[in-house]
Amino acid sequence: MAELLNDYFTAGWRERRHECACGWQGDSRAMQMDLQDEVTDYACPDCGNLLLIVRHPDLAQVRAAAAAGHPEARQQLALLEEAERLLGPR
Ligand SMILES: [Zn+2]
Repeated sequence: MAELLNDYFTAGWRERRHECACGWQGDSRAMQMDLQDEVTDYACPDCGNLLLIVRHPDLAQVRAAAAAGHPEARQQLALLEEAERLLGPR
């Protein structure tokens, strides 16, 4: 059964080892990635079984994680603020 990760900024989820019913084992970087609007799906590279669903962070989550010192969140927030500065508020 696929695991749903609600907090994108959870430490170490990319490196965590998953086991598929078909016997495949590995972390998210070895899986098949499918980018959707709200989530990214990660499936077994051998049998296509869905193993992990990662919900994309909203702006509030990015801000909270950046404020907590999460390096990736700080980068994302900087990009978001740069885009806002260039495009203006919408
Ligand atoms: Zn599999």
